[in-house]
Amino acid sequence: MHSSSSFELKILYDNKCNEAGFLTGFGFSALVYNVFSNKFLLFDTGGNGNVLLHNIQKFNLNISQIEDIIISHNHSDHAGGLNAIYQLNPKITIYVPVNNSSSFKRSFPEANVVGILETKELDENIFSSGQLGSSYIPEQALFLKTKEKKTILLVGCAHPGLEHFILKSQQLGEIKAIIGGFHGFNKFSYLKNIEVIGACHCTRHITNISKLYPSQFRKICVGDTFVF
Ligand SMILES: [Zn+2]
Ligand SMILES: [Zn+2]
Repeated sequence: MHSSSSFELKILYDNKCNEAGFLTGFGFSALVYNVFSNKFLLFDTGGNGNVLLHNIQKFNLNISQIEDIIISHNHSDHAGGLNAIYQLNPKITIYVPVNNSSSFKRSFPEANVVGILETKELDENIFSSGQLGSSYIPEQALFLKTKEKKTILLVGCAHPGLEHFILKSQQLGEIKAIIGGFHGFNKFSYLKNIEVIGACHCTRHITNISKLYPSQFRKICVGDTFVF
């Protein structure tokens, strides 16, 4: 990988499109390779463990390389594949919104389940947003801080409202890219200065977003790799 890069993102799970040999399924998952720490972190797990494992193998990755898992929120299209990883590596660390931590501890008793409340650095230059939307659907997103001091925002479904994750992320610095599910997000002007808009999964207004920001919009397919 190029020496100026900070993160490599592999799209493991999405419902819309796939590169040859990869499988789609309802849900979202992306693997983050952190150049700073030389670690692999899994963000969400899609809905089906078999699809997830197939796509991990198709990327020629080994489950044992994945050290930490971040679950954005406790919906089956994001946490459904987790058990397949747990069966192969039960001692794994799982970061979940704090409101969900006791149920994950019950379901994955051998894992190191960590409940997240506030913004927290989980690995070098990788931050959890902290738990948002606690009264509705508790959810966390990831902020990846690059060598050029810009942020890559990785979101699951953005149920609490993508704009809240954007505002939180901007406290760390300028956002370069947003990748993941935007759900019903329609406050489009928030996206104006974002270089890479990778709206996928549950994004309801994906056509509007791609038409409003054609040069920034990036189609996301399972099997794609992004280097930042
Ligand atoms: Zn959801
Ligand atoms: Zn979802």
